[in-house]
Amino acid sequence: MEHNRIDLLIHNIGTLITMQGSRGPRTGREMSEVGAVRGGAVAIRDGLIVAAGPVDEVMADIGGLAIERKHDAQGLLVTPGLIDPHTHLVHGGSREHELALKLRGMSYLEILAQGGGILSTVRATRQATEEELYAKAKASLDMMLSFGVTTAEAKSGYGLTLEDELKQLRVAHRLNREHPVDLVSTFMGAHVVPEEYKGRSGEFVKVVIEQMLPEVKRQGLAEFCDVFCEHGVFSVEESEQILLAAKELGFGLKIHADEIEPIGGAQLAGKLGCISAEHLIAASDEGLEAMRQAGVVAVCLPATSFNLRLTHHARARDMIERGLAVALSTDYNPGSSPTESIQLVMTLGCLNLGMTPEEVLTAVTINAAHAIGRSDTVGSLEAGKQADLVIFKADNLAYLPYHFGINHVHTVFKRGNVVVSTGN
Ligand SMILES: [Zn+2]
Repeated sequence: MEHNRIDLLIHNIGTLITMQGSRGPRTGREMSEVGAVRGGAVAIRDGLIVAAGPVDEVMADIGGLAIERKHDAQGLLVTPGLIDPHTHLVHGGSREHELALKLRGMSYLEILAQGGGILSTVRATRQATEEELYAKAKASLDMMLSFGVTTAEAKSGYGLTLEDELKQLRVAHRLNREHPVDLVSTFMGAHVVPEEYKGRSGEFVKVVIEQMLPEVKRQGLAEFCDVFCEHGVFSVEESEQILLAAKELGFGLKIHADEIEPIGGAQLAGKLGCISAEHLIAASDEGLEAMRQAGVVAVCLPATSFNLRLTHHARARDMIERGLAVALSTDYNPGSSPTESIQLVMTLGCLNLGMTPEEVLTAVTINAAHAIGRSDTVGSLEAGKQADLVIFKADNLAYLPYHFGINHVHTVFKRGNVVVSTGN
């Protein structure tokens, strides 16, 4: 390794958002402190950031080192690579036929009770070959990358047998190796009670704990374990059993909590010290307080509420005022959120959750990194972290959520390499 040179200098940056200076997930007012710099530059060596900040400081930092290549950012906006911390990336089939049912007023839980919804995705995922799942997930990951996502999480949970869960996780594992986007894998065998265990959720919980979790661990296919804790899915008690077993095995913990009814999922997240709790639309004050005390990142999913046509939303504004760390994600999945667009989520974060553009960017960079245990390597532009960054066709941050429904990406860098270029 040669240290007497810089591989790449990105210069002529109009506004550089660094997100520098976080100690932990950003909470409360810190979510507005994005480290915006006018006239910035980023120096990169071996895929890592050497210096990022005002151009004169960066030049002083790198002293007389030779600069191998320069990239002119044309006075545009540059941010850390975006992070999508909650996706159901790998699955078979799609569910566009449910749109008409929803328009006729059928709810998510009603469609599920009829064996549709998530259960139809389970059937399609079981039928699909590993190659088919790979091709479909890769196309979605390409789409995420095109919107500026350089790191994402991917959950299993549409197989619901040991072999089919392993199949999903192997696909994510292979994509992580072969695709520019880094993937963090989560085992979510307790996503729904499969048809063959209908009315016997306790027996299925046993299968998850005794068969699935140890084998997923043995094969090293997931870092986190997640549970859908919801009325009619897995109870608070069942969720606790599964998450405690996962903790014992060394998994990090996540939980889909209080999306539809306030059954106490948020409290459980606090009690168990989950790294994140997701959805939280119906979470109670006590639940949010338990999360705050335990430092659980609140992952809000406004594209899901939008797609479910809900008129009430996660209380992100309130969470921020209470001192919680909020992250945002697509929840990309074939049922309640069929979109890969993190940029749409940013707009919905502003319009439906009342977050500011600064808070929204924090929520899809450094706080999202914390939600998936990657804050040491990504989520901000500072010395030693991966050189993952996005040049947007925009002058300023507010323009991204303001001009919505389009893709603002100009260029995406992953570990210092151009992986998306719109060619203008
Ligand atoms: Zn989800």
